Amino acid sequence: MTNPTAHGLSDKARAEIQGLRPYLPGKPIDELAREIGLNPADIVKLASNENPIGPSKKAIAAMEAEARDLTRYPDGNGFELKQALCEKLSTASDPVTPEQITLGNGSSDILDFIVTCFVSKNDQVIFSQHAFAIYGLVTTVQGGESIIVPAKNYGHDLDAMAAAINDKTRLIFVTNPNNPTGTWLTRTEIKHFMGKVPSDVVVVLDEAYFEYVHEDDFCDGLTLLAEFPNLIVTRTFSKAYGLAALRVGYGISSPEIANLMNRVRPPFNVNSFALAAAVATLKDEEYVAESKAINDQGMSYLTQTFDELDLPYIPSVGNFVSFEIPEQANGQPTNITAAQVNDQLLAAGVIIRLVANYEMPNHLRVSIGTPKENEIFISKLKKILADARS
Ligand SMILES: *Cc1c(COP(=O)(O)O)cnc(C)c1O
Repeated sequence: MTNPTAHGLSDKARAEIQGLRPYLPGKPIDELAREIGLNPADIVKLASNENPIGPSKKAIAAMEAEARDLTRYPDGNGFELKQALCEKLSTASDPVTPEQITLGNGSSDILDFIVTCFVSKNDQVIFSQHAFAIYGLVTTVQGGESIIVPAKNYGHDLDAMAAAINDKTRLIFVTNPNNPTGTWLTRTEIKHFMGKVPSDVVVVLDEAYFEYVHEDDFCDGLTLLAEFPNLIVTRTFSKAYGLAALRVGYGISSPEIANLMNRVRPPFNVNSFALAAAVATLKDEEYVAESKAINDQGMSYLTQTFDELDLPYIPSVGNFVSFEIPEQANGQPTNITAAQVNDQLLAAGVIIRLVANYEMPNHLRVSIGTPKENEIFISKLKKILADARS
C-alpha cells in the first residue's frame, strides 16, 4: 500500500485545520480495560462529567418504542422535544417558544453553529482562561482569533472580558458554571456584564451544568433573554439528564438567531432515539432529582475528604471538582505530581482527568460518581499518596 501521506493532501487542507489538534476526550473504559487487562466492569470512570446513575428507565422505554420506526428519518424539526422544552422552561415572566429553540447533536453542535453563523476570518472571539476546550477549536476552524482572558481565582473575570471587546469582537463565550473549574457567576454579575457588551456582539451563556446548581442568586440565562437579544443560552441532556451517548443539546435565543442557526444546522442532526429519550427524561422529574441528590452527596464526601487530606480544591457547583496535588500536604512533602497521581490511578483502574491542557498542571478533575465509585476513587488516591510518602 502506498503511504497515504505521500499524496500531500495535508498540505491542501485549509491553513486553519493544519495547526489543529483533535479534542482530547477522557479515556474510554474499554480502552483502559484492554491496556491494563481488567474487566471493564471493574473500572471506575469519573472523567467526563457523565451522570453516574445510568439513564432514566423512561428514556430506555421511549427508545425501545422508537426502534420500530428505524426506517424513517427522525423529525428534523424536533417538534415534540421543542414542545416539551417550552413546557418545562417557560415561566410566567419568561415564556419560551419553539421558534427560540435550536436542537443540536449535543450542545457542542450548537456552539459550532453559533461560530459558523457569526465568526468570519480574523474576527475575534473572547472567552476565559481555563474554559471549555471546544470554544477555541470551533473558533480556529472558522479562521477566527481566540482572545483568552486571564481568569480571576480560576473563575471568569467579567470586567476584563468586557474590557477586551473591540471592533473585531464578534462573539463571547461565558461558561456558567465553568468546566473544569466549577466556578460560577450570579445573575447580577452577568446582567452587569451584558450591559457593557455592544448589542451587535453575540454572547453565549453555556449552561451545561445548570440543573445541578442550588445557589439562589445563580444566573438563569433564560431570565435575561428578553432584555438582551444578543444572548444565546445553551444547555444539554448529556449531564444531569444522563444521555451523553445520544448527543442532544439545545440553544435558546431570539427567534432571529435561532433562524440563522437553523440554516447551518445539518438536516436530521438529532436522531430519533435522542429525541424520544430527551422528551421522556424531561418528564421524569424523579430521575433528575435523584441525579442531583447523588451529586450533592458525592460532592460533600469528596470535598470533605480533600480537606482531610489537605488537598486544595476549587469549590464547584457542577457535577465535578478540580483538586490540586500540592508540594506539601498536612505539613509533609507529597513527593508526587498530579500527572503521576493520574497515571497511578489509571493503573489502578480509576479514570479521572488531568487538566494540564486547561493550564492547570497541578490539578486533577474528578466527576462525582455513585457513592461506591467515589469510595473506590478515594481509597486508591489515599493509597497512592501514602505510597509516595513512604
Ligand atoms: C459537557 C459540556 C458541554 C456539553 O456537551 P454536549 O455536546 O452537550 O455533550 C458544553 N459545555 C461545557 C462547558 C461542558 O462541560
